Amino acid sequence: MKKKVCVSTLGCPKNIVDSEKLIATLNYEYEITDNPNQTDYLVINTCGFLQSSVDENEDYVQQAIKLKKLGKIEKIFVVGCLVSRFSKELTKKFPEIDGFFGTDFLDKLPKKIKQNHNELYGERKLLTPSHYAYLKISDGCEHNCAFCAIPAIKGKFNSISIEKLVEEAKYLAKLGVKELILIAQDTTSYGIDFYQQQKLNELLLELSKIEQFKWIRLMYTYPRKFPENILETINLTDNIVKYIDMPIQHINTGILKKMGRGMNKENTINLLNNIRKSVPNIAIRTTFIVGFPGETEKEFAELRDFVEEFQFDRMGVFEYSAEIGTPAYKYGDTVAKDVKAQRLEELMLLQQKIALNKNRKLIGKEMTVLIDEVADNHSIGRTQSDAPDIDQQVIIKSKNLIQGKFYKTKIVDAREYDLIGKALK
Ligand code: SF4
Repeated sequence: MKKKVCVSTLGCPKNIVDSEKLIATLNYEYEITDNPNQTDYLVINTCGFLQSSVDENEDYVQQAIKLKKLGKIEKIFVVGCLVSRFSKELTKKFPEIDGFFGTDFLDKLPKKIKQNHNELYGERKLLTPSHYAYLKISDGCEHNCAFCAIPAIKGKFNSISIEKLVEEAKYLAKLGVKELILIAQDTTSYGIDFYQQQKLNELLLELSKIEQFKWIRLMYTYPRKFPENILETINLTDNIVKYIDMPIQHINTGILKKMGRGMNKENTINLLNNIRKSVPNIAIRTTFIVGFPGETEKEFAELRDFVEEFQFDRMGVFEYSAEIGTPAYKYGDTVAKDVKAQRLEELMLLQQKIALNKNRKLIGKEMTVLIDEVADNHSIGRTQSDAPDIDQQVIIKSKNLIQGKFYKTKIVDAREYDLIGKALK
């Protein structure tokens, strides 16, 4: 009888990719189950980015230990970012755990549980719907943003070669993937380690040759040294979507300096305007942090006015979280919790208005929609301006559509963060 293994994935799409590789590897000798309440081995792939995720992940581990004590789980392995960040503390706190592995668990865990097949490059058991998949192009980060724990967790920048990524992409295309989403901590710097120069444009050009991919999407770009040659590539290719995800974090030059972002207000705005000028109708997604230590009402107002003026297509906002081990930790957490919450709400309410205005302008337009889900009386999809899970959706009042298929769709109504569509064909 094959032993059962369940891999629970907490955290970001980069963790999803790692879990998919682990599952594909373990699948050779174990029965894979997605039920963590009834399994022989449970692997918990963790996130340790923010204190809030640390708390959430530790709760999950606690729940698993309870199941083990009830005899529902034989062994528990905790892997990934939380372990890389707090392995000593975790080992003390959770003696019931059978093994802790940091972010290099893909090499080490299979060997621990007597696995003959070590990691077989490129194989993945998709955890996403089979029509889209993430491609992790590098790991680690060489920036040192003052608020961020990731460099301490993931270490130095580590690109995967173009050859290996094309091999993995072709494998995903064979699985039926139509939307390929490029991820990393920082996709802008792709290649600086492996090729001693930025190679994101070359990678995009190679991936765009794989015709099965109708949409290739670029996430997690970093503004400094943004490779503007990719803008022409987006214009010249049919399958690289007009979409850029670029966390900006703030706009006030003093705050950007304290954050260690290597950008100021002027060059940030110049870059964003150039992206918009170079690629007509491109959708720009960004994220901001409010309540960074010392952020005054005036500096926040500057950010709010910038958001109002620039009108991002997609936007997320986070409250500053004082993280042990990060450069900014020494500043203390000086902005009161309720002030942070109020600033976050103010920005999100402003963005809601912006999003509704932009959506209303799409009524009557025809757009290509990729169906992610077909429910009882409606289907849910996305336009090329929407990444899975974080951006908007298109709701189509039809249940006869097919998941993973593209439909020409007429937009008939608009809400803040959703469009209502009618599938044409
Ligand atoms: S770019 Fe900055 S925020 Fe992003 S992972 Fe690197 S250090 Fe963290």
